[in-house]
Amino acid sequence: MSVPIAAPDIGDAELKGVVDVLESGMLADGDVVRTFEERFADYCGTDYAVATSNGTTALHAALVAAGVGEDDTVVTAPFSFVATANAILFSGATPAFADVNPETYNLDPSAVEETIRARDGDVDAIMPVHLYGLPAEMDRLREIADEHDTVLIEDAAQAHGATHRGRPAGSLGNAACFSFYPTKNMTTGEGGMITTDDEEIAAAAARFVNHGRGDGAYVHVEHGHNFRMTNLAAAIGLGQLDRLDEFVEARRSNATFLTEHLSDTPAITPVVPEGRDHAYHQYTIRCGNRDALRKALNERGVGSAVYYPTPIHRLNAFEWYDGPPMPASEMLAGQVLSLPVHPNLSEEDLETVAGALADALIEPVKTDPTATEVRRV
Ligand SMILES: *Cc1c(COP(=O)(O)O)cnc(C)c1O
Repeated sequence: MSVPIAAPDIGDAELKGVVDVLESGMLADGDVVRTFEERFADYCGTDYAVATSNGTTALHAALVAAGVGEDDTVVTAPFSFVATANAILFSGATPAFADVNPETYNLDPSAVEETIRARDGDVDAIMPVHLYGLPAEMDRLREIADEHDTVLIEDAAQAHGATHRGRPAGSLGNAACFSFYPTKNMTTGEGGMITTDDEEIAAAAARFVNHGRGDGAYVHVEHGHNFRMTNLAAAIGLGQLDRLDEFVEARRSNATFLTEHLSDTPAITPVVPEGRDHAYHQYTIRCGNRDALRKALNERGVGSAVYYPTPIHRLNAFEWYDGPPMPASEMLAGQVLSLPVHPNLSEEDLETVAGALADALIEPVKTDPTATEVRRV
């Protein structure tokens, strides 16, 4: 594959940071993690940040720290990576899916209200996903959360560097969770982060990820887990964080290039509502012949990917779920295709993508949602 769909960009600062940690002998949780937490909180404009072993454990710990657990319900989007719903289940709560807006791909606030109504207000948290790097409709979701007295937790795993009315993703809910998996906007290999302005959530999360540890070694004040980040990962993260703005700028510029090259085709290109800055974790189009387009691009050496081919409520692992159908999510699962947009794309790579798109047949989407059959996998 000449143009991959994702490629991490590891620089000299990351290499030196890792070597320094190795030479220090302090490989696990330690000072480098504390520095990374401080710097990440500064970046997001939050008072606190708690590092974790990955994005899934960040979501799990944030829910527990916000008081979500057994017998609780969390409203979330079914059009996301399965980790969002898995973390809810691990907290002891149950997900209640609300459909997404087919234009923004994000949790639809009116569907959230409908889900809450259907449960007679019995909902404890709302967890929007800033899918593909576009912040969800946080103003409206904040109002709904306040009205129903629920916490609002951002799944910002794809949204490092995105903003909503000038405020960074990570500072828009009661807490937010990031992932540093290698394909994300910045990486630590595996890693995650919780950001929050809430001192109690921050303290509870810090305890939960470290076996419920209180003040001092072997003082355990509550049940907890080992979800700690390592100094090695944090050293990579510090180098990456310094370049995050640069990475996101490159993603935006690549996205503009792709949109220009798709303007004469029937492909539906990403929509960015007023007041939001997209981080373009993914550049995702919709078309009527997604699988054929994917194959044609592949034959020209252009990687692409389907995020996500099956909405979470249709996965076998969620067969027990008996909520209402989610027509927008089910339709999108059959139409979306993500194209290379990562910051490592060269001019030549972009021209390869543009050439492949120009030669490909792109069909318009069929608007009848019932026309899309989603298989259970
Ligand atoms: C990547 C991702 C996660 C999970 O993060 P990991 O670091 O892979 O555990 C959760 N939610 C979304 C939307 C993601 O994209």
